[in-house]
Amino acid sequence: MTTTRRSRQRAGSRARRGRGGRHSRRKSYKAQWFSVTALAVLGVVMVVHPDATRQTNLAAQFSGAVVAADAPVQAPVVVPTEVPTPTATFTKPLRPAPTLTRPPKGSKPNVVVSTGRLQVVAGSSKANGVRDKLTYRVEIEEGLSFNGAAVATAIHKTLTDARGWQALQPVSFERTDKPDADLRIILATPTLTDKLCLPLDTGGELSCRVEDRVVLNAKRWMYAIPAYAGKVELYRNYVVNHEVGHALGHGHSPCAKAGTPAPVMMQQTKGLAGCLPNAWPTIKAT
Ligand SMILES: [Zn+2]
Repeated sequence: MTTTRRSRQRAGSRARRGRGGRHSRRKSYKAQWFSVTALAVLGVVMVVHPDATRQTNLAAQFSGAVVAADAPVQAPVVVPTEVPTPTATFTKPLRPAPTLTRPPKGSKPNVVVSTGRLQVVAGSSKANGVRDKLTYRVEIEEGLSFNGAAVATAIHKTLTDARGWQALQPVSFERTDKPDADLRIILATPTLTDKLCLPLDTGGELSCRVEDRVVLNAKRWMYAIPAYAGKVELYRNYVVNHEVGHALGHGHSPCAKAGTPAPVMMQQTKGLAGCLPNAWPTIKAT
């Protein structure tokens, strides 16, 4: 409708210019068009927003809108909008953002529903040492609420940490995604962990190392254990160092003295027996 009016107005304007121009009449047409359009827009705004207390603001918005419509380079038009109602597609829990290894507050991450399918995390991370290179590959069970790259980064940082095994024995850890890796470090649901750990009994709660497999229980990776008092990152350091420690030939050690750091080769997931949480093989009881 506005377009029709405008083109009519343009046509009329051309015609009037052809006849030598009658400014007063053109002005009156323009003023008339302006006020009719303004009243129409105000009417629409008032119908859409019956809230009387906001009418002054809306009137101000409406006049801004009219100016902006006639002058394309003006400030952006402020148009009242409604917040869209969430649709059915938003009712599914959202996956954590790519950089998150912890779930966003309020959502429940999946750490138990098992698909039984493993996916290799693509990419590699160079060793930071030169002694006896040991290659490992990170695999994650499909459907778990973890970001593969973030998990792989956390594992590599743990293995190459100055407090880790590299400081105690001739080994350098290098991450690969190739099939011929020396070690597979697998993050899996309790169900798949139990299968991959056989003949060991992990009971849905523990992690393990069997042959070339280090299997990290996703439930523990997400929630750690009560004795770690919410220090999930530290527990992740512990479980990686403990299980890889088995792959390097280390057996279990008990808590030597209450109140001192637990040995990394203690089965800390089963309890600390008075020792303090400790994730690093270089930190000993004093
Ligand atoms: Zn163990």
